[in-house]
Amino acid sequence: MAPSASPQETLPAAGACAQVSAIDSASLSNLPLEPYFHCDLPRLQRVTIPAFSFIITNARGRRVLFDLGLRKDWTKLSPTAVAEVYHDELGIRCEQDVRDILEAHDVRAEGVEAIILSHHHFDHIGDPSRFPSSTALVVGPGVCDALMPGYPDQENAEILTSDYLNRPVREIDFTQSDLSLLGLPALDYFGDGSLYLLSTPGHAVGHMAALVRTTADGTESSFVLLGGDACHHCGELRPSTRRPLPSSRSSCVASFLETHDMDGTQPFFQIQRDPQYAAYCNDSDEAQRTIFQLQRFDALDSVLIIFAHDLTLKTIIDEFPATLNDWRAKGWGDSGRWRFLQDFEPMENL
Ligand SMILES: [Zn+2]
Repeated sequence: MAPSASPQETLPAAGACAQVSAIDSASLSNLPLEPYFHCDLPRLQRVTIPAFSFIITNARGRRVLFDLGLRKDWTKLSPTAVAEVYHDELGIRCEQDVRDILEAHDVRAEGVEAIILSHHHFDHIGDPSRFPSSTALVVGPGVCDALMPGYPDQENAEILTSDYLNRPVREIDFTQSDLSLLGLPALDYFGDGSLYLLSTPGHAVGHMAALVRTTADGTESSFVLLGGDACHHCGELRPSTRRPLPSSRSSCVASFLETHDMDGTQPFFQIQRDPQYAAYCNDSDEAQRTIFQLQRFDALDSVLIIFAHDLTLKTIIDEFPATLNDWRAKGWGDSGRWRFLQDFEPMENL
């Protein structure tokens, strides 16, 4: 039986809810996973994945985006980012960007007060210049020093100066908040308990996640945790001692456990530490620590974790303009949690 959460492993009971929707504006194809974690499964050598952004609106109508996916004209990224696309031989499809999708549903860009970035990589930063100058850019600790000025003001910059020029840039300083959620430094973004930014460093400088309160029923709330690129596959998060593998397993999963001397209580995959892939992760020790912390959230049935490139949840959730708020009533936590195990099956079985 799974260990239940101890009394202190709880999230703030009081708070308002926010409406949150997932927007998938783009897909990345032919993405190699080996630079992120070691894995010998045939299905996980090169993958096609979504790039989720999220729109979050609080009870007073304040509206933010969490991540911006890709830009349509990706060849206009900084030369450094374009070189990454060519180096990894990625395929990029983005016919409608986040702004196009919002406006197709009568959500005006002018109403978005901020774009909060999990991190600065090109599949998350999109094209902020498509939003009015009143839309702020919110980034994690250390991002301004590490990444600005952008291209062309700095030849090798990863981001563009146009990504932040002429708009307010707010760098989150978690030391100014005394809030901590399940061990992660946190900040109550709207001040109403509906959206917490979480410090989840490792994959990139200043990487952040977001925790959105989706329902509040008396003393019980449910949440969606937007995990950015803290993991590139749920097998880096699960199983864990807090969320052990169910006892009914396919023969492929059972044989993977046996081959790798695993007992179903530790994640299938670990953060890649091979020096040849060092450029893909800012700090692998921090990235692994972040995953351990996220396992505490994953232990709670009241939390649905969605990473930016979660292909298995893509087949389950309803996307914008539908909201994710009813995820618990719809059973998406239970139906999505172990769906990634299909990646262990031989290629011909699906
Ligand atoms: Zn990404």
